[in-house]
This record gives sequence, C-alpha cells and structure tokens, in this order.
Amino acid sequence: MSSIPILEARQAQIHQKGTQPFEMDCGKHSLAGSVSQRACVFCGSRVVLYPIADALHLIHGPIGCAAYTWDIRGALSSGPELHRMSFSTDLREKDVIFGGEKKLAAALGELIDQYRPKAAFVYATCIVGIIGDDVAAVCRKVEQEKGIPVLPVHSEGFKGTKKDGYKAACDALFKLVGTGSTADIAPVSINILGEFNIGGEAWIIKKYYEQMGVQVVSIMTGDGRVDQVARSHGAALNVVQCSGALTFLAEMMKAKYGTPYMRVSYFGIDDMAKALYDVAEHFNAAPEVMARTRAIVRREVETIMPELNRIKCDLYGKRAAIYVGGAFKAFSLIKALRYLGMTVVLVGSQTGNESDYATLQDMCDDGTVILDDANPLELSKYIIEKKADLFIGGVKERPIAFKMGIGFCDHNHERKIPLAGFEGMLHFAREVHNSVTSPVWQFAPARAAVLESKKEVAR
Ligand code: SF4
Repeated sequence: MSSIPILEARQAQIHQKGTQPFEMDCGKHSLAGSVSQRACVFCGSRVVLYPIADALHLIHGPIGCAAYTWDIRGALSSGPELHRMSFSTDLREKDVIFGGEKKLAAALGELIDQYRPKAAFVYATCIVGIIGDDVAAVCRKVEQEKGIPVLPVHSEGFKGTKKDGYKAACDALFKLVGTGSTADIAPVSINILGEFNIGGEAWIIKKYYEQMGVQVVSIMTGDGRVDQVARSHGAALNVVQCSGALTFLAEMMKAKYGTPYMRVSYFGIDDMAKALYDVAEHFNAAPEVMARTRAIVRREVETIMPELNRIKCDLYGKRAAIYVGGAFKAFSLIKALRYLGMTVVLVGSQTGNESDYATLQDMCDDGTVILDDANPLELSKYIIEKKADLFIGGVKERPIAFKMGIGFCDHNHERKIPLAGFEGMLHFAREVHNSVTSPVWQFAPARAAVLESKKEVAR
C-alpha cells in the first residue's frame, strides 16, 4: 500500500511538514479521476439548512439527490421534526425535456398545504441548472399564494465546491434575517452560528451562555426555527463556529445590520473555555458575566478532570489521523488529541483555505502529512505509512479506518453523542479510548503487521 504513487496533479495538495517549502494549492475544484472525499455544492447547502426543524426542505431534482442526503445530519430537535423528511420533485426524462417548473410549483403547493411549514427551502440540483428552470420565479409565485417565505437555494451540484453550497445556504438564510420582531431582545445577547445540534451540542452550549446571563436569540441552524432566524438581526453579537459554513452569513449581517462577529470552537477544554471567556469579554460592560463564566469553567473542568486523567494514561503516545470538512475543526482536534497525550501524524480538510493550512502547518509536528481535498487511496496510504492508531473523520472515512484495522471516531454527521462543551470532551476521550484500545484490531489483517512491528520496536 505504501508504494502507491500519488497522482501527479495532486502533488501540490499534499505536504509533509519539514520536507519541502509549504505552499498548499487549495480552494480549487476536485481533480477529475481522483475520487475526492468532498460532497457536492447541493450537499453543502443541505447540511447547513437541514437542522431548521419547522421548515420544509424540497429538493428539486432527480430522486438520487434527495436519497443521498436524506436525514444527513440526524440533527436533534426539541420540537417539530419536519426537517427529517426528504421531499423531492423526482425529475424524470420528460421533465428534463419539457422543464420541471410546473412540477415544482405543484409539489410546493401540495407539501405546504399538508405540512404547514413556517418556511420552505427549495434546493436546485445539477439537472435544474442544466435545463434552466427558473426556481426563483416559482418560489416567488408560491410565496405570494401561500403567505410563507419560499426560498430558493442556488446549489446546483456542479457549479463549484462544497463551500459554494455553504454560501448558497447563507444567501437563503439571509433573506429570512430581518423579517421578524426584535422585541424582548436583551443588550447582552448573541446568535450561535455554525452549531448543528447533531448529538445535542447546541443545548449544552446554550445552557452555558444562559448560565452566564447571555440571551441566545437564535441558533443557526441546530434545533433551528424560522422565527428565530427572522429576528436574529436583533442580537448584539454573532458567535461563529464551523467558520467555513456560516462566516458568509456573519459577514452579510455585519455589513447590513452592523452585528459584530467572533470565531470560536466548542471542542476541547481550552477552546471551549476560550469561547465563553471571549463572549464574556465582549460584554465587559456587564462584569457579572465574566464572574459567572469563571465559575462555570471551574465547575465544569473540575467535574471531568479525574476521568480524563485516567484515560490519558492509556492513550499516551498513540498516533492519530484527522480528515474533516472544515479546517477550523482540525485545529481544535489537534489540541484535544495532544491534551490526551496523542500525536497527530496526518491532518487534512475538504474546504480549508491558504490561511487555514498555514495555521495547520504551524501547529503540526515535523513529519505530519497535511492534505487538501484528499481521496481514499491517499488517506489509506498515509495511515499505513504513519502507523496511525486512530482515524477521526465522517461517514466516508469510517470504512477506510476499519479496512486499515484502526480505531475510528466520528466527528461529523453520524455521531450520536455530543462532543462539544466540557462534557463533550469527556465523551470524546471515552470514545477514542474505547476504539483505540479495543482488542479487536489484532484480528484485522491490515493491522496485525503494524502492531507486530510496534512490539518489535518496544522490545
Ligand atoms: S446535485 Fe448533482 S452532484 Fe449533487 S447529488 Fe445531485 S446530481 Fe449528484
């Protein structure tokens, strides 16, 4: 496996720290034939908007686009669960020839009458861009007829990278922002952007902020509601996690409503504490917020520390590989793994930019492989070469880890337990520990040789 060559045109997107000048050729379309791990533009939009639980999500395209993203995040809702349905106009050959606008209008009308959503998002897929349906015009017409916001999402799959899908989702959200009442919004108030409540993380984070005395006006988009998004322009600050996805919206809100924003991460002890302290510092005109924040951080850290210390003993010196969507998440993962005593030997992302990779290069140890827009073969090659014990990624990385016979931790859509917040750090440590120390890997053929060679070194 380690002798597998890298495609010539991919060389500039793979670096090993310390072996050559570092200049990542990122932010471009995936190489044809490379079989990228990236999702399409439409999928990028879908994952951002999906957790808005009282909206209708209608995918205008062939059935495969809807099937591929059905319940893609499994994001939890404390109320309605309309987001978990996958509606499609199911375009067929006849629609491609004669156009799908009538079918779209009929589907929207029927679904709005039946489910009574607060708003509807209509996702344009590849074929819709090709046949030229005027999705925006259909949305405007249905909006007038039904009296709810009907928002086109211009997310034709072929028109860019997953990041363009984030932008299309933010454009749709921005049309909702500013349409609701800002009554009862306190001066010390925030919107949480880029938290998707996959395992209940949004509830943990919201609880911390409320204990600090900070009003949470909206969460975009975890456990999201249309009315909250509509009044989010009344918040005093936007706090942006998963910066690749929601920074577009934060920038637009800053330009139109003057809402400042800050980037945070809720993963790992240091970054979680920093996120709370940064928000408290922003509201330093109310010093009681900082005092409460200190008490919360002390209480939470003291609670998790004894078990974390026990787990660290077993994980010391183990090697980890990371491949995630946004690079910002990788920064926090590196810090959290180091805290657990582990070494990061490979790190990559689907959508990182030049500044993200410069930060990754600064953070990583010499010899760490840093990749942009990788494919399964490259990931497998470096996992073997670097003798990783753990792979952290999402649904598409899981089979790679298991085929290589190493531990896996889902840090993406399919996790069922929250990994954010202080308690999330403990969940993460437990999951990593359980997976890495499982005795099952000794029976995996791909892993047996690596384990044997490590024993040799130890002797
Ligand atoms: S939008 Fe295009 S690339 Fe994306 S799932 Fe549909 S057909 Fe595939």
